[in-house]
Amino acid sequence: MFERPRGTNDWGPEDMARRRQVEAAFVRTAESFGFREVGTPMFESLELFTAKSGPTIVNELYAFKDRSGRDVALRPEFTASILRFYVADLRSRPKPVKVYCAGPAFRYEEPQKGRYREFYQLNAEIIGGAPLPSDAETLALAIGTMRAIGLKQVRARIGHLGMLRSYLPFGPPDQAAILHALDKKDFAALGAELDRLGRSDLGGPLRDLVGLSGDTLVLEKAQEILEGTGTEAFEYLRKLSEHLHGYGVDPSDFTFDMGVVRGLDYYTGMVFEIDSPNLGAEKQVGGGGAYSLAEIFGGEPVQQTGFALGLDRLVLAAEAEGVLPPSKALDAFVVPIGDGMRDRALEVLAMLRAAGFRADVDLVGRGPSKNLDHANALGARHAILVGEREWKGGSVAVRDMVTGAQREVSRKTLVEGLRSALSR
Ligand code: AMP
Repeated sequence: MFERPRGTNDWGPEDMARRRQVEAAFVRTAESFGFREVGTPMFESLELFTAKSGPTIVNELYAFKDRSGRDVALRPEFTASILRFYVADLRSRPKPVKVYCAGPAFRYEEPQKGRYREFYQLNAEIIGGAPLPSDAETLALAIGTMRAIGLKQVRARIGHLGMLRSYLPFGPPDQAAILHALDKKDFAALGAELDRLGRSDLGGPLRDLVGLSGDTLVLEKAQEILEGTGTEAFEYLRKLSEHLHGYGVDPSDFTFDMGVVRGLDYYTGMVFEIDSPNLGAEKQVGGGGAYSLAEIFGGEPVQQTGFALGLDRLVLAAEAEGVLPPSKALDAFVVPIGDGMRDRALEVLAMLRAAGFRADVDLVGRGPSKNLDHANALGARHAILVGEREWKGGSVAVRDMVTGAQREVSRKTLVEGLRSALSR
């Protein structure tokens, strides 16, 4: 017996059906927004991730040397790969470049429910648009995806890093230390950093600020705390809220939250996180914002906004809300009545499969009554009984496996008949 590696999952047919449903809702929504799918490698040079997130990121990665001694790592997310791809190639396309991708990502984390070492992300980026419309479009896609899944409890919390950055009278490395402490809500570390910088007076206002969340009124309170700095950021968030209304986003689907910080240095402007309140500790289903990575990767400055939603957590949230339709079993199980009818049964099977039904047939040599038991166990919606007498009359017997009702149906009308029965 072999065990799965820690932090990984096996997904059975019902799990995969739910995962595909959630992924399909994202793909459908992204395509409807004019995003195009791209693909990037599952492993990259380690340097790509250290250039983006600093050397300590290595502790969170599956990083290793390949046989030629190159340092490589399994991707922990998509943004670095997409921006590498953009700088090398996609940048010659008409702007804005709007791309999405979906696939597994890997992080060396302490596993728990909703936190795995291999997990699945749904990712979208807009590169080269104007900031406000791009940020609004990104948020509308993230929220729209959750709505398309059928989730009712959607709450995007939106903040702005420009506001904090303009308030902090420090150079980039010290700002980074403060933002990191605020991101983690680690007020002891915040106090220690401010003491070191001789500005412990900022501790109170910063704590008050990151505690603020609500509608646009919050922006006024935040502005009072920040004493006139960050005005542009507040104006920006106000306009963003208007744009979101324009998209038809329900006002209850988002709040402003001055505590959304996202501690990484390359976030520059609007930032957001989305929670599903049903999920307990690992309730954050997604996050994103405006950032500048192309520049770090050697490209021209350009506006970049994106997000990643965690598919594993979206599925858990959808299960908790009971919004995923049950996965469909077989449409039809074809049963030959007697050995001589197997070829005829295969003809019917081929016809049903070609018509797009999910149809199956016995592969172990069961007799008719065992086959009906098996069709029942599989949850097949219909059994199609192919017997000699009916065949000669141009028909087959169709048994509704839910009601048990059975009727003879002409083979010519079988496809139409099943289609209308299944659509009921
Ligand atoms: P991040 O890039 O850390 O903002 O992650 C984006 C989203 O991916 C999160 O909001 C989670 O939904 C999901 N996610 C991140 N890490 C994990 C993990 N270890 N296991 C499952 N989902 C994760």
